[in-house]
Amino acid sequence: MLWVAIIGLVMTVAALALAARRVLFLYKLAVIGPPAPERIEYARNNVGVEVKAQLVEVFGQKKLLKWTPSGVAHFFVMWAFLILGTVYVEAYGALIQGAITGTPDFHIPIVGTWPVLGFLQDFIALACLLGLAAFTVIRIKNSPKKLGRGSRFSGSHLGGAWLVLIMIFNVIWTLFLARGAAVNTGNFPYESGAFASEAVAKLLPASTLLEEIGLLLHIGVMLVFLVIVVNSKHLHIFTAPLNVLFSRRPDGLGAAQEMRIDGKVVDFEDEDLDGDKLGRGKIEDTTWKGFLDFYTCTECGRCQSQCPAWNTDKPLSPKMLILDQRDHAFAVAPYLMMSEEQRAHAGQDVLALLEKPLVGEEGVIHPDVLWSCTNCGACVEQCPVDIEHIDHILDMRRYQVMVESNFPSEAGVMVKNLENKGNPWGMSEMKRADWIEELDFEVQLIDEKMPEDTEYLFWVGCAGALEDRAKKTTKAVAELLHIADVKFAVLGPMEACTGDPARRLGMEFLFNMLAQQNIETLNEAGVKKIVATCPHCFNTLANEYPQLGGTYEVVHHTQLLAKLVDEGRLVPVTPIEEKITYHDPCFLGRHNKVYAQPRDIMAKVPGVKTQEMHRHKDRGFCCGAGGARMWMEERLGKRINTERVDEALTTDPDTISTACPFCLVMLGDSINEKKNSGEAKETLEVVDVSQLLIKSIKGEPVEAS
Ligand code: SF4
Ligand code: SF4
Repeated sequence: MLWVAIIGLVMTVAALALAARRVLFLYKLAVIGPPAPERIEYARNNVGVEVKAQLVEVFGQKKLLKWTPSGVAHFFVMWAFLILGTVYVEAYGALIQGAITGTPDFHIPIVGTWPVLGFLQDFIALACLLGLAAFTVIRIKNSPKKLGRGSRFSGSHLGGAWLVLIMIFNVIWTLFLARGAAVNTGNFPYESGAFASEAVAKLLPASTLLEEIGLLLHIGVMLVFLVIVVNSKHLHIFTAPLNVLFSRRPDGLGAAQEMRIDGKVVDFEDEDLDGDKLGRGKIEDTTWKGFLDFYTCTECGRCQSQCPAWNTDKPLSPKMLILDQRDHAFAVAPYLMMSEEQRAHAGQDVLALLEKPLVGEEGVIHPDVLWSCTNCGACVEQCPVDIEHIDHILDMRRYQVMVESNFPSEAGVMVKNLENKGNPWGMSEMKRADWIEELDFEVQLIDEKMPEDTEYLFWVGCAGALEDRAKKTTKAVAELLHIADVKFAVLGPMEACTGDPARRLGMEFLFNMLAQQNIETLNEAGVKKIVATCPHCFNTLANEYPQLGGTYEVVHHTQLLAKLVDEGRLVPVTPIEEKITYHDPCFLGRHNKVYAQPRDIMAKVPGVKTQEMHRHKDRGFCCGAGGARMWMEERLGKRINTERVDEALTTDPDTISTACPFCLVMLGDSINEKKNSGEAKETLEVVDVSQLLIKSIKGEPVEAS
């Protein structure tokens, strides 16, 4: 048995050395970029939250299980890795004990002979085999050769994925060979429970040599697999728990990440600010958390399959955005790790690689990829290993906008309007209160302070104040609050854009300016509670202003209205006999998890029959306006709003409802086109949920948007 132990230990030392070398390389590469101290600080200060995340996401596989059957298959394979760790403890124990005593009858102390452990090991090994079979079927059914761009595996490294499946299969069959042989030689730790190993034993001859070969094969396969894992996408076995640990809570959605230079939040008033370090222009500007994202991507393509840009034939795939950066990082890594002296002697090809821009026509990421993103969050929501695509996109946009001044020219008009007039349309701030004159009751305008008896500041938003279709929502909400006797006031001309379009474009400086101005106004007025109709304003006020010291209790109008209906302060009575399909706005749903309240309101309106679209709630499909896309031309592929309306039309609705002024505009535009082409009925309209509610309460026709 001594020769077996020597071979086993030599193989182990060699494999561990190779794996350690790779891990050291990955570590050195990851820390080449700026630090991300906030990630460590958060994890350190929120141990309970992080433990829960590990239990739910890593051990519970919550996100993966949303995708049955691949989720169930992965659940078994993942747990097989954990439980079968005990089989490897037994294997190494047998190796060493066999060398010392000549008899490899090792068992784990205390629990090592319990039939339940033997059963569990065999059961999970078989379940793992079933998981592998399921993966094989899924991969064949979703083959890019068959489905082309429609396959979520399109662009993934397919050969590597098959190799990993084969290696896991090798781990399992060698496990049964080693265990079955040990049963026959009497060295097996379990007298009962290990039902499959006992069954395999019946097929094998009783042979010490077979037991030794089985043991070495089982260990050898694992060691080869270990080296493959640290050199492949399967690295996620080790990095996924770390990526979950250091991801932004609650889920990388909601607030945009603060902009930092060398780990410190950027202060735009700092005279020593190094303007060239804003955002990410080169791969080495990526923080270690960004590199951890690269290392963790499993190439599963769930993000790609949900992306509205990818699904409308644009070049952006969130998966490829991560993989292209990762591949580039690996390509330049040896040169990034060179000393200055070594670089001075490097050839032109090396220098060209090092100088390759992260974004550009000849760069790692094409500008069309970067600017196609609507920040809808579908990728982040679906990613089973908590990769934060939007953080990557915004960091690259920040560099393009603030350092290179290189962004779609149409968006420049919006930027100028925000700078000069405080709203994207460039209209006079005095027009912000015009909608009030169209109401037959009084609305309190804040002069300096919130009036004593008011509960809410009604944040109207630029669209709600200035855009004709959105103004209908504003008036409906004001009227509903008035009917429910909720005391509110508005800022009127004192309100400016929250800065959302600037921030999502990458113009962090302008966002900062607008946000500071608004926070000053709100704080001076003594505002505590805010109700907003625009999900983008809602998200910015609730989740982003606290980054700059503005903390308020913020609700979306659908949340407040649902509560008022629930309390009986708003009573919808007039039936609306219509079939209605609801479109989830991304910044209300995915970014802030408000799915129930708009639906609750509609459910309370008599006569309304709701019909969900195929893609709804957390898998809802964007309207195309987020991420400052509202202010850019959509020249590539099918229009996203057209795709969404096409989907809505499959439910044959009388009305499409939503809860966002931008969705109203985007869907409304597409519906008008569909009416002109005869694809939609003339009576089809898109309305805000609040408009349905007021119609039912007042019994008056709803003002179509
Ligand atoms: S945020 Fe939306 S549009 Fe942007 S990459 Fe992710 S899924 Fe695609
Ligand atoms: S980013 Fe996440 S969802 Fe997308 S392919 Fe990688 S692991 Fe899958």
